[in-house]
Amino acid sequence: MALVCVGRSLNTSQIGLDKAGVLVLPNGMVAVNAKMETNVPGIYAVGDIASKWWLAHVATHQGVVAASNACGVPAEMHYDAVPAVIYTHPEAANVGLNLAQALAQGYQAVVGAFPFQALGKSQAALQTEGFAQIVIDRRTGQVLGAQVVGHEAATLIAQMAIAIANELTVESISETIHAHPTISEAWLEAAYMAQGSPLHLPPKKIRKS
Ligand SMILES: Cc1cc2nc3c(=O)[nH]c(=O)nc-3n(C[C@H](O)[C@H](O)[C@H](O)COP(=O)(O)OP(=O)(O)OC[C@H]3O[C@@H](n4cnc5c(N)ncnc54)[C@H](O)[C@@H]3O)c2cc1C
Repeated sequence: MALVCVGRSLNTSQIGLDKAGVLVLPNGMVAVNAKMETNVPGIYAVGDIASKWWLAHVATHQGVVAASNACGVPAEMHYDAVPAVIYTHPEAANVGLNLAQALAQGYQAVVGAFPFQALGKSQAALQTEGFAQIVIDRRTGQVLGAQVVGHEAATLIAQMAIAIANELTVESISETIHAHPTISEAWLEAAYMAQGSPLHLPPKKIRKS
């Protein structure tokens, strides 16, 4: 079996953007503002040529934002809650900041992680590999990021994308009733872990020196 990764490149150089007066950066990217509008009013750019996120769902959302603005309905792109999935077995998914990124940005970040092994639905589905974790700001409780590795990770990450995009707190997760048994309970349990009050795992032992 051979895996070939040839990479991708932008082809903005010879499509006449200069004739339209559209600014193309030295790296081939088309410069846009948060409305996805180029330097020429009324000309919009979306997709790989217009952002560092080379993902289909980002391109789609940019298209919606650009179309809204073109039709006179103000809209802006935000990139704080872009889900990214690795379609391996098991799947892996991320949204927002990981712990190291959150700490580097000055947050008092803590992580709450929950193993699928301790989840009823994972046991029933014989899919106990992996974990889900939530990164929060201890001061405000705001959900900053989430990572999940395991069964249905690609689907699970959407819940945390909603939380981050809407600046929800960890309490908004732990105070939401999650159906049982479901894999989505991993977020509920991870939220409890982040708050230091685990539900279905024993609390961390305090070492006596
Ligand atoms: C192998 C591979 C796997 C991927 N898997 C995923 C994934 O699982 N999930 C995900 O979110 N993203 C994935 N991506 C990334 C995703 O495909 C891109 O981010 C997305 O397609 C970008 O959309 P776009 O409209 O900017 O560009 P494109 O989808 O590339 O569309 C550009 C279009 O412009 C056309 N075109 C180019 N030059 C000209 C020209 N001179 N005149 C007229 N037409 C032209 C092209 O033919 C093409 O149809 C993958 C990409 C690759 C290459």
